[in-house]
Amino acid sequence: MKRALIGLAILWGTLSFHAASPIAYRFSFPEPQHRWMQVEASFTDLGSAPLELRMSRASPGRYSLHDFAKNVYDVRAFAAGGRELPTTRPDPYGWTISGHDGSVTVKYKLYGDRVDGTYLAVDTTHAHINMPAAIMWGRGLDDRPATVTFVPPQGARWQVATQLHAGSSPLEFTAPNLQYLMDSPSEFGPVAIRQFTVGPRTFRFALHHTGTDADLDGYVKDVEKIVRQEGAIFGEFPEYEPGAYTFLADYLPWASGDGMEHRNSTVITSTASIAAARTDLLDTVAHEFFHCWNVERIRPKGLEPFDFERANISGELWLAEGFTQYYGPLTLQRARLVDVAATAQTFGRLIETVVENSGRLVRSAEEMSRMATFIDGGLTVDRTNWSTTIISYYPFGGAIALALDLTLRDRSDGRVSLDDFMRAMWRKYGKPGGGREGYVDHPYTIEDAEATLAEVSGDGAFARQFFARYIQGHEVADYARLLSRAGFTVRKRNAGRAWLGDLHLESRRSARVAALVAPTWPIYASGLDQDDELQQIDGQRINGDNDIASVLARHKPGDAVQVVFVDRTGIARTARVTLAEDPDIEVVPAEHGGTLTAAQKTFRDLWLGAK
Ligand SMILES: [Zn+2]
Repeated sequence: MKRALIGLAILWGTLSFHAASPIAYRFSFPEPQHRWMQVEASFTDLGSAPLELRMSRASPGRYSLHDFAKNVYDVRAFAAGGRELPTTRPDPYGWTISGHDGSVTVKYKLYGDRVDGTYLAVDTTHAHINMPAAIMWGRGLDDRPATVTFVPPQGARWQVATQLHAGSSPLEFTAPNLQYLMDSPSEFGPVAIRQFTVGPRTFRFALHHTGTDADLDGYVKDVEKIVRQEGAIFGEFPEYEPGAYTFLADYLPWASGDGMEHRNSTVITSTASIAAARTDLLDTVAHEFFHCWNVERIRPKGLEPFDFERANISGELWLAEGFTQYYGPLTLQRARLVDVAATAQTFGRLIETVVENSGRLVRSAEEMSRMATFIDGGLTVDRTNWSTTIISYYPFGGAIALALDLTLRDRSDGRVSLDDFMRAMWRKYGKPGGGREGYVDHPYTIEDAEATLAEVSGDGAFARQFFARYIQGHEVADYARLLSRAGFTVRKRNAGRAWLGDLHLESRRSARVAALVAPTWPIYASGLDQDDELQQIDGQRINGDNDIASVLARHKPGDAVQVVFVDRTGIARTARVTLAEDPDIEVVPAEHGGTLTAAQKTFRDLWLGAK
């Protein structure tokens, strides 16, 4: 029964592939100095219905709306014989072409000047192309294969780095369907490419930068260490359909810092050079490469498939992004690319974010994930109170991963860890793959993640409680106790220092409050908030942040001080505020000033040692 069904599916797939003519895209750059690209897209076998051409509103892996139609202009459509066809605009995101005879070629220009993981960038040095920002696609034609031809500016000797499949010439590529095409950013320029293999897999590092070949050679050796450590977590690499996994890096002074994961590649951009910011850049490499399992194949159900007409929503980004955020620095540590004090500092920052930010009290990690559409590169003109009500699911999920890893190790004396959880998620949801390239057939839900934790820990009640308290609830794990098992101390960074909140004034000469006052700060009770003018604390005139610090230096936690301010409507107010202790924390290795016990060292080595 099963076998017969599979046979039928293969037959149908083959037939439909042959029946659907590819959509042919051609990118050319007549004036790269003016930062625009000419696109030509040809559609055939359309039947008689109007062709609904769309520009994406979203981009795979970027969870907000971008409305890429905004940079499209000079749109013209033609029938097979060259007759120009009228276009209409049914909404701001598309063009509809009717009156054709089954074939349409659309030509348009597209401006783009942002080098990152989301947009298009064209200049005389390269074209950095994120497909959703660049291509018009036809509604209902998702299953059609595509060809993409790159035409360099006159005289330029550019090559293409991409996860697209190689086509019939060096500048021609193919994609099996729209999902895969949209997921395949391409760097077209004078890229330097290095290649290495780990077991049966090939990895390519394609770099456009202003540094030297020696910088790149040394750097790629470190990239390989990261690839090996992350491969060891899962015990294997995914099958990369084009035959290799490709890192597409642009380290250019005019880039914007970013990292964006794709199925068989990643785009990593930075203003910094390898020489100036090696460790930071490697941290992004470690994060993005981990995504070739987590998100690209172990995928939350809400992200499958990606919707190009509206934003996807997922309550699991604390796992998809947050756990990835944890594995970045953990991998750098295991690969010996950072020292233990630096790793402790990184983990300290994760914990601090979750412990101190008042957002945790009003939104759970699951709810923070659902805010991605608004906070992940979305723009707002109106004010929000996100600074006090949102913790990004990156550090939030990273802190949860840290707590879960240490808790699993703690309860099993190091036998079970988060690595086991990730491997179990991989085997159940990632490895089975998809019937069509670019799709994931078994995406997971939050219930699936909890069930997997129950299996890995062998304790359903533990799994339920962990999710209820830290992921769907508002509690914070006991990091001090968990980290002490690995020989790390969590301590107040400024012990004994009086604190009324992380209050900031607009400038050194102004007493106007620059940002929202959080409900967890002592001064919140006074009624002071953004735009109010702070006049006095404890009788001292306030003219800037330094004045606040000097008043606080004379006090200790528990002291009450009088605060005088004028609210933004002009009313003078006076209140008493009881000072607290500065809550900032840090994590330090026990051996810095103390001793690391043999038991702590064993626990730590199992966790942070090379795999
Ligand atoms: Zn990520």
